[in-house]
Amino acid sequence: LNVTARWKTRLILVLILVLIAAGIKVLGKRYLRTGENSVASYFFDNFAMGTVLTVKVRTDDKSLAEKGAELASAELHRIHKIFDPNDTESEISSLNRSRGSESAISVSPDMARLLGEALRIRNISRGNFEPTLGELIRLWGFSNNSHRPEIPDPLRIAVLADSLGGAGGIELIDGASSVRIAAQTGALDVGGIAKGYGVDRVVDVLAGIGIKNALVNLGGEIGVLGVGSNGRSWRIGVQHPRKQNCHLGVIDQVEGMFIATSGDYERFFLEKGRRYHHILDPATGYPAGRGTVSVTVIASSCLVADALATAAFVMGPEQGIRLLESLGVHGLVVYAQDGDTESGRLAYNATRGFLQIMKPELEGLPIN
Ligand code: ADP
Ligand code: MG
Repeated sequence: LNVTARWKTRLILVLILVLIAAGIKVLGKRYLRTGENSVASYFFDNFAMGTVLTVKVRTDDKSLAEKGAELASAELHRIHKIFDPNDTESEISSLNRSRGSESAISVSPDMARLLGEALRIRNISRGNFEPTLGELIRLWGFSNNSHRPEIPDPLRIAVLADSLGGAGGIELIDGASSVRIAAQTGALDVGGIAKGYGVDRVVDVLAGIGIKNALVNLGGEIGVLGVGSNGRSWRIGVQHPRKQNCHLGVIDQVEGMFIATSGDYERFFLEKGRRYHHILDPATGYPAGRGTVSVTVIASSCLVADALATAAFVMGPEQGIRLLESLGVHGLVVYAQDGDTESGRLAYNATRGFLQIMKPELEGLPIN
């Protein structure tokens, strides 16, 4: 009798789990609304690459929209598996273990593409975007979501920052199909570029199955196809860095334009009134401290927008904007006027092109 009871309990538990799983699936697919011209928009929420993925698809074909959302999640999980530095099985972890090896290691096309771009952007940002900060990111505890809220030993920070060989020790061979990494090179961490790459890939995947109108938002990195639910451009609110339910402004996002935002509000802790966040200055090993609070970049790929947002964040309001302007991309740097990012007055610098697209409202515009 006792055994049967136990099995019954187990059966009920399994049933509950199945129902929860089904519930999550149902919740993940929310019907949004039918726009003008009776074209429907379907709205999907999911978790991917450690953040929230939102896919909106404007189409008459509901099953196409659902297929798109499923493929989008699958693609991001595939990419995450390659670039997750916390997964010892990931390709990036095995590359990190290969440091100092004589022979070159052959890499996947995704790795080749991402490393090529990361090194290119490292060069044009003069090392302010630095894809080999892995050990420092880990030391600060920003490498996973449950970071430990304290400042590491200053000596260890200094030692790691000093010993940072930069990305100079990474050699891309045969059109980047294989890679050799010198022993003294820091551990690869492509967290400042991988989400952007993910958005580029998802937009390609959606276009590849014939979706004409869609919006992809992966934790603030955004790409679109075609037009939005009312038949006009997708409209994208730019997050206010200090007011959770407010925008700095709205951008009409045209196909082929990608938006990325890097902010000190994504992962941080406060100590003695100072904010310690996850965007590090490779020169010091400390969170970038030129008063930057957030950076938004509009570029022709999300990977580039993402990496340049990180670079400009480190470089600060003057140098950062100068870099973006010199590359012909649009960007906005919000910063604290007196350098005090907690209580200081916010101000902004922007490229000329950015201000033609959006005028930032630092008081904040409520999201309705
Ligand atoms: P967000 O997560 O807000 O989109 P980013 O795109 O700037 O911000 O990504 C931050 C991540 O980039 C960090 O978690 C870390 O993995 C990596 N990173 C931090 N500092 C740098 C840097 N100076 N250069 C390149 N990557 C960085
Ligand atoms: Mg970035």
